[in-house]
Amino acid sequence: MNPLPPGSTIGILGGGQLGRMLAIAAAQLGFDVCIFTDEPDSPASRVAAKTIVGNYLDHAALADFARRVHVVTTEFENVPAETLETLIAAGARVAPTPNALAVAQDRFDEKSYFQSAGIATPPFKAIGSQEDLDAAIAEIGVPAILKTRRLGYDGRGQIRINSLADAKGAYERLGAPGILEGFCPFEREISVIGVRGAGSATSFFEACENEHSGGILSRTTLPAKIDAFTADAAERAVFLTMEAFDYVGVLTIEFFVMSDGALVANEMAPRVHNSGHWTIEGAVTSQFEQHIRAIAGWPFGSSKRIAAIEMLNLIGEDANTWPQLAADPTARLHLYGKRDARAGRKMGHVTKLKSHL
Ligand code: AMP
Repeated sequence: MNPLPPGSTIGILGGGQLGRMLAIAAAQLGFDVCIFTDEPDSPASRVAAKTIVGNYLDHAALADFARRVHVVTTEFENVPAETLETLIAAGARVAPTPNALAVAQDRFDEKSYFQSAGIATPPFKAIGSQEDLDAAIAEIGVPAILKTRRLGYDGRGQIRINSLADAKGAYERLGAPGILEGFCPFEREISVIGVRGAGSATSFFEACENEHSGGILSRTTLPAKIDAFTADAAERAVFLTMEAFDYVGVLTIEFFVMSDGALVANEMAPRVHNSGHWTIEGAVTSQFEQHIRAIAGWPFGSSKRIAAIEMLNLIGEDANTWPQLAADPTARLHLYGKRDARAGRKMGHVTKLKSHL
């Protein structure tokens, strides 16, 4: 693929903070950005050259978007398949491949893919009724987690099943087709972010260690406390997955690390990832820039880490501490411009670089 020259327009589906940080990285390389979102006044639209506000199933608005951009990417995985089909039919080049998005949208398909690729997962079963749930609990046991197959994120759409009593009526409470997963007594959580270009070149960021609170990422640190064998295995799983989907762009896999160092895949994100925000200041090239380079057919920059890292998410009212964070000369503050700080909402993050390498 010929590299897209500066001055070309990158289209981004979605107007959230990931789109905002992608748009900033694209602008730095001389691209214009056009955001397509159903949200008026979105975080991404406020840093982009152009925004089209429309429904993701509005064919006329999508055709208009396709005409204005040289490549389309996405900042969230739950883009309807019809949106991507419409864009492709209108002549748009779309990266990553719709197939990778489709698999990542469904927890059962995602875990089935991992198993087919030899990547370990927690034990899991598809759940379409209370009878399915009862049978799955008899097989997998408790504790377990019942999750919706689709549209769950940041711990939403999940019911913890610690005893048979918790399972009673749980399918009805979930309210949608689900998946039961055995609870994984992990020692730590890590993620690995990789990027692959149209010519199959790849680059990987070092594994980072993630702490969650209430199902939402709260803290990411590097270096992760894992050995080289575990780090290599995690990177290999990301490599295999990018190859399997003929992937173009950034892809992330979250893993549980067991006490013996064994890896269990939790989920994949076909996009830039919250656990990679540290790369803006902490790596030679950020995950956002690598993604833009991949979809524009440019060579990659170095993904090398340059310091020890702590990244803290600012969730809900955490963002009100901005005056103190702004006064801390070691804190690199990012605020996403969201208009109101609802509980559980990702409002910003702060990255601290320690002991430079
Ligand atoms: P998810 O939305 O599936 O990424 O889940 C959010 C968080 O819940 C994960 O990062 C884990 O901390 C926890 N979690 C999810 N699934 C499991 C599992 N099968 N075993 C243990 N913890 C889990």
